[in-house]
Amino acid sequence: MTEGLEPFDLASLITAHDEGNFAEAVVPPIFQTSLFTFSSYDEMIASYRGEKVRPIYTRGLNPTVRMFEEMLAKLEGGEDALGFASGMAAISSAVLSFVEPGDRIVAVKHVYPDAFRLFGTVLKRMKVEVTYVDGRDEEAVAKALPGAKIFYMESPTSWVMEAHDVGALAALAKRHGVVSMIDNSWATPYFQQPLKLGVDLVIHSASKYLGGHSDVVAGVVAGSKEMIARLKAEAYPYLGGKLSPFDAWLLIRGLRTLPIRMKAHEAAAMTIAKRLQELDVVEQVCHPGLANRLPAGLNGTSGLFSFIFREGVDVRTFADRLRLFKLGVSWGGHESLIVPGEVVLQQKAQPNSAHTFGINPRSVRLHIGLEGTEALWRELEEAIAAAS
Ligand SMILES: *Cc1c(COP(=O)(O)O)cnc(C)c1O
Repeated sequence: MTEGLEPFDLASLITAHDEGNFAEAVVPPIFQTSLFTFSSYDEMIASYRGEKVRPIYTRGLNPTVRMFEEMLAKLEGGEDALGFASGMAAISSAVLSFVEPGDRIVAVKHVYPDAFRLFGTVLKRMKVEVTYVDGRDEEAVAKALPGAKIFYMESPTSWVMEAHDVGALAALAKRHGVVSMIDNSWATPYFQQPLKLGVDLVIHSASKYLGGHSDVVAGVVAGSKEMIARLKAEAYPYLGGKLSPFDAWLLIRGLRTLPIRMKAHEAAAMTIAKRLQELDVVEQVCHPGLANRLPAGLNGTSGLFSFIFREGVDVRTFADRLRLFKLGVSWGGHESLIVPGEVVLQQKAQPNSAHTFGINPRSVRLHIGLEGTEALWRELEEAIAAAS
């Protein structure tokens, strides 16, 4: 549907890192090493004094990880980026870099459940309060912002797919001197570049579309040099949630095909969402691409959306009939996936487990993978027929 951004020139980003020692390998090497040695006392002391920037220990600087970070910074239109061991390490490090006891965070409602739980546990214990607002209601956001330290966004959200006017919200945060952050995992920099819309920090679960092959758990934060310096000062080295060299290498591989994967996810998911919307047994399809137009700054849609069955459809039968669609959380890889809303609502033994994240018990979340739209649709139709 919507035109995406220009394809990224990833090859030139990779070769920019070749200082003559990669033997012209088309794929960059993995620096799978914990430490880097010094040839002399003088070289070692010069590094420790900061007179020479070079890798010392991988938790600090690793060339493969750095390569991924620089690629991501460039893709998001930022000056710098930091790779983390998971999306949650990225979120917690970003948030903890800007708050002190007594501070307040404003967050859009229906954020990623574990982000919500981080806010309700660790941050609550640190006496940091989180106020939730509807990101679609700019007046409510403007009212909540004065005095806050962080404005935490996620757009679109990853179950009910609420899409916000990120540029307008970022401008509100700026006006009130509040640091703005956004979880951009759903759209990826291919469809949305929040830094260019005025957001201070962009966060990803790289486990999803950036990696794109369901074989890595990782995260990343991108922004200006100044903003990233805040993370580098304490959270990155001392919380220690560093991205590993091998995972960074997998992410570099994944990024090479990000544009074509996103276009394919978009096309297949749009087709299936529109067809579902036509069915009598479907009450509502939650997909930002079905609205008259996308919010400003969102230039396309990905493969993740949800829909709500009408009363009387047996979701268990529907789910168990599917074969190409696997029952499973996460998303962003080749595979099509389904998560029944009722399963998430029954997730016990979690802090604040009464919270529903806006999930309807008759809803189902789909990730539309790359298996082929018609094969996926045939299977959905058959499963719906069996369940109705
Ligand atoms: C998966 C996910 C996260 C958390 O990322 P991990 O890599 O699993 O730690 C954060 N935000 C969104 C929207 C996600 O889907």
